[in-house]
Amino acid sequence: MSDRHRLHLGPIATPDRLLLGPGPSNAHPTVLKALARTPIGHLDPLYIDLMGEVQDLLRYAWQTENRLTIPMSGTGSAAMEATLANTVEPGDKVLVAVKGYFGLRLVDMAGRYRAEVATIERPWGEAFTLEEIEQALDSHRPAILAMVHAETSTGVCQPMEGIGELCRRYDCLLLLDTVTSLGAVPLHLDAWGVDLAYSCSQKGLSCPPGLGPFTMGERAEAKLASRSGKVPNWYLDVSLLNQYWGSNRVYHHTAPVNMNFGMREALRLLADEGLENAWRRHRLNAERLWTGLERLGLELHVPDHLRLPTLTTVRIPEDVDGKAFSLHLLNTHGIEVGGGLGALAGKVWRIGLMGYNSQPENVDLLLDLLETELPAFRQSAPVAAIA
Ligand SMILES: *Cc1c(COP(=O)(O)O)cnc(C)c1O
Repeated sequence: MSDRHRLHLGPIATPDRLLLGPGPSNAHPTVLKALARTPIGHLDPLYIDLMGEVQDLLRYAWQTENRLTIPMSGTGSAAMEATLANTVEPGDKVLVAVKGYFGLRLVDMAGRYRAEVATIERPWGEAFTLEEIEQALDSHRPAILAMVHAETSTGVCQPMEGIGELCRRYDCLLLLDTVTSLGAVPLHLDAWGVDLAYSCSQKGLSCPPGLGPFTMGERAEAKLASRSGKVPNWYLDVSLLNQYWGSNRVYHHTAPVNMNFGMREALRLLADEGLENAWRRHRLNAERLWTGLERLGLELHVPDHLRLPTLTTVRIPEDVDGKAFSLHLLNTHGIEVGGGLGALAGKVWRIGLMGYNSQPENVDLLLDLLETELPAFRQSAPVAAIA
């Protein structure tokens, strides 16, 4: 019997932060209440009803009729991995359109399932044209085209018109990352011809991290059904999971019931507000931010027509230590903003306005702090002002 590692701690007392970075975003107060409820059994008839509600509300949020629509236990990356694990067979050609960090993650994951991965790339801050996509489909003839709708690393929203039709013409599945768009940016999975998509709970849905919504259409189901071997990932195998989420209710793994309480509440709030109202709110608050940043003389990294309402990349002025200022926001004001990833490391701040946090008061608060407190962080500022 050893007392090593036996810590004597007070109850957890984290401060309330305002999370205006790339995620997680703050959860809605009623979602937090839902999470705090006493768990019920994962085979309790009441829980089975709740599962159906969550599935239907996810179909609404995604605008899809897909039967196989379920929240994966795990974060967005688990649902991301599920789309590939279930559909990729060794040697399948997967074409990934890379225009930021999360495109690279798709490349990494597809390779682990032994896909033959090909990529097309755009600089970080740009999107693909329909012509570029068609050319790549024509020369690579992939089984799956994978791309990111809302690239959180760059703040670019990929225009989707026409891509689904191309994928049908070239007989490939369209796999779409909607992690930073679900619930916040117009998404029409069925109208766009998306065959596989995934998202997360902690960005546009105002819920803490812990679930990864996943959906799969009939064409993707057919590819899953025609596999020659088992899905090489037991936990994410949709054919097993659907025996629990579908009609049989066969135990697979213990559902994180409280996370699903939270998800139900988050999706209920979204349905209450109405999707189009939520999309409009995100757009208006983002425009308020963009106008305010430009008024302060700050430069936005992404051209107007490709900007993502949920995530704005703003260039760090050359005479400012970006990290020092974001630490100041966190330590002095309890506000989190993100830094750049990969090609944009040290070059941009990433400002998120997602779900519950997409509110004009939050925009105005951040703009006010940039106006009054950023000048002291300029290298040309008098030294005394920094202290
Ligand atoms: C956050 C994010 C992910 C990963 O989701 P996690 O919940 O962090 O696992 C994937 N893709 C995009 C575009 C993201 O922004």
